[in-house]
Amino acid sequence: MKATQLWFTEDQTPGYKVQWRLREVLHTEQTPFQELAIVDTYDFGKALLLDGIIQVTEKDHFIYNEMITHIPLSAHPNPRRVLIIGGGDGGALRECLKYETVERVDMVEIDEQVVANCEKYLPEIASEFRNPRARLIFEDGLKYIKTVQGEYDVVIVDSSDPVGPAVQLFERPFYEDVARALKDDGLMVCQSESPFFNIDVLRKVVTALRDLFPVVRPYLAVIPTYPSGLWSFTLASKKVDPLAVPRERLKARDTQYYNPDMFYGAFVLPEMVKRAIE
Ligand code: SAM
Repeated sequence: MKATQLWFTEDQTPGYKVQWRLREVLHTEQTPFQELAIVDTYDFGKALLLDGIIQVTEKDHFIYNEMITHIPLSAHPNPRRVLIIGGGDGGALRECLKYETVERVDMVEIDEQVVANCEKYLPEIASEFRNPRARLIFEDGLKYIKTVQGEYDVVIVDSSDPVGPAVQLFERPFYEDVARALKDDGLMVCQSESPFFNIDVLRKVVTALRDLFPVVRPYLAVIPTYPSGLWSFTLASKKVDPLAVPRERLKARDTQYYNPDMFYGAFVLPEMVKRAIE
């Protein structure tokens, strides 16, 4: 006889579903912005879900969080002021604070409940919200970004997928505001979805950013949790080209996925991605 099992189905892509066997559902709530759940999975530890989509898991969160922070922060010659838009699980914030040059990280998260629940259920990821160099702002990133000009060295758009409150974070008017919020030698990075399932999103992001920044470089990482496993990020810079960063400036920084070789390797794109964004 088979014992009753608890399974969660993630079906964000039409025609493709992923099932996760759960030990337990630890928490669910409808916040003013989205449906939030914390579950304990069999193979990936505890995980945060928003609107039925897995955002981070204990087992592989480090890949996404290291790649969305160490690539831009290593590309910038002297990152002192950093802005994270979204990032409610705290993983990107944690990685940014590994840079001794970083004086302050402002994190603008729309949903206070994401932060509260990650601090409670995922404390290893959400470990730095009370760091004196971190400033949490609970506001819509689209609104906040309009209020700043020439303030940041690096802006990290650590948003959920382009559904619900994150839709406009993938659109050109928002990138125009990000460009204005950056200093003259600033750079930004955003997650730009799966090259397999969402190549149109990646293409749209790259096209919009090329109109606004002289240097636009997509890069990739392998993240088991996300649909297809292959995930893209896009870096856009006002001045520095990451490919011209000297090797001796790159340091190992207590990471599990990122390392200085990865810095250059991540920008090597498969032909299918190159062609899609030509
Ligand atoms: N690693 C994740 C992924 O790609 O699935 C994303 C990490 S983080 C949990 C994404 C956060 O973006 C969420 O906490 C969500 O509340 C936040 N967010 C979505 N739209 C936002 C907006 N307009 N302003 C600020 N934060 C936003």
